[in-house]
Amino acid sequence: MSASVSRRSFLQLSAAGAATSLAGLGLPALARTPAANKPLPFGVPATGDVYIGANEYPLGPCQAAQEAMAAILPYGNRYLRDLQKGVVEVFAQQEGVPADHVVAYPGSSEPLEFATLAFASPQASLVTADPSYENPWRTAGRIGAQIHRVPLREDYSHDVRAMCAADPKAGMLYICSPNNPTGTVTPRRDIEYALANKPAGSVLVVDEAYIHFSEERSAIDLVGTGEDVVVLRTFSKLYGMAGIRLGFAVARPQLLARMKHFFSANYVPVTAAAAGIASMQDPEVVPQRRGENRRVLKATVDWLTARGHACSASDSNCFLVEVGRPAAEFSAAMAELGVHVGRNWPIWPTRPRISVGTAEEMARFRQAFARVMG
Ligand code: PLP
Repeated sequence: MSASVSRRSFLQLSAAGAATSLAGLGLPALARTPAANKPLPFGVPATGDVYIGANEYPLGPCQAAQEAMAAILPYGNRYLRDLQKGVVEVFAQQEGVPADHVVAYPGSSEPLEFATLAFASPQASLVTADPSYENPWRTAGRIGAQIHRVPLREDYSHDVRAMCAADPKAGMLYICSPNNPTGTVTPRRDIEYALANKPAGSVLVVDEAYIHFSEERSAIDLVGTGEDVVVLRTFSKLYGMAGIRLGFAVARPQLLARMKHFFSANYVPVTAAAAGIASMQDPEVVPQRRGENRRVLKATVDWLTARGHACSASDSNCFLVEVGRPAAEFSAAMAELGVHVGRNWPIWPTRPRISVGTAEEMARFRQAFARVMG
C-alpha cells in the first residue's frame, strides 16, 4: 500500500476485497459467514483459507461471552475495578484457590515471561522439555540464563526424572501440559515427582494453556500446599479469546510478588474480564468444545495414521505429524493450497504441528495433505 493511500480508503478497499473474494469462493473466512452486505472488519483475513497454525480455537468466544462484551462496551471509558476483581474471584472460586493466589493478565504470555525473568538468571538455569513451547526459552536466552532442553521420550512424554537431574542449580523447571506442540499430557504423578525432586530453590512452572481440552487433573490445587509451583492458564485456546486477551497466574502470594518485581500486573481489558466471567459461568462451554475438538482430532489423526503418517498422541487441539520430508517444504506446499499449518521444532525437522480446526477445515486439510503428499 502506498503511503498516499489513507487508512480510511485502505479499510474501504480491503472491505470491498473481502466481500468479493468470499462471494467468489463461497467459503467462510475463519469459519465465519459475514452477513451478506457486511464487509469483514479491518484485519480479518478474507482469503477463505484455512488457518490451523496457531493453536487457536476455530470459533470465537461463546455466545454468552459475546453478549457480555457487547453489554460492557458502552462502559469502556471506565476502569471498572469491581469487574477486574470479579474475574479473579470467579476464577479463584471455580478453581478452589484463595483469590490472593490469583493474578489476571492479558493472556498467559506475560506471566510466563515474568516467571522466567523472576526465577531464571545467569546463575540459575531454565530446564525445559524439547520440543516444548519456546516462550521461556526466548526469555531465558535474552537474560543470559543457561537452557537445558531435555528431549521428550519416544512416546512423547516429559522425562521428568531427567529434567530434575539436569542441573542442580536450575532456577525454573517448565512443564507444559498438555504440551505444545505434541498435545501430550504429563500425568499428575509426574508433576508431583517434579515438585518433590526439583533442585532446591527452583520453581516449577506448569503451563496449562491447553488443559481444558483434556480431562487430566489440573495442578492448580498444588499451589495451596505452599510449594514452589506456579500454574498458568489462558482463555486464548478453548475459550476462543486469543484476540480478547485473558489469562491467569496461580501461585502462593510470595511467588506472585516475585513475578511482579519487573512489571506489576496491569488491568485486563473490561471486555476480556466480562467475557471471561460469562465463559466460566456457562457450564456447557468446556465439555461441548472439548468433545467437538476431540471428535475432529480423532478423525484427522485416524486418517493420517491409516496413510502411514505417525502422529503424537494428543489430548489437546494440536499434534505433530511425521511427513518424512522437511516440514518447511511441506508447509509451503500446503499454504499454496490455502491451508496454513504450524511450524516445526528443530529437534524434529520432519514433524510439523497441526492445530485442530472445524470439521470442515480439517476436511480441507485432508484434501490438501493428500495432494501435497501425493
Ligand atoms: N502457553 C502456551 C503453551 C501456548 O501455546 C501459548 C500460546 O500459544 C501461550 C502460553 C500464550 O498464549 P496467550 O498469551 O495468548 O495466552
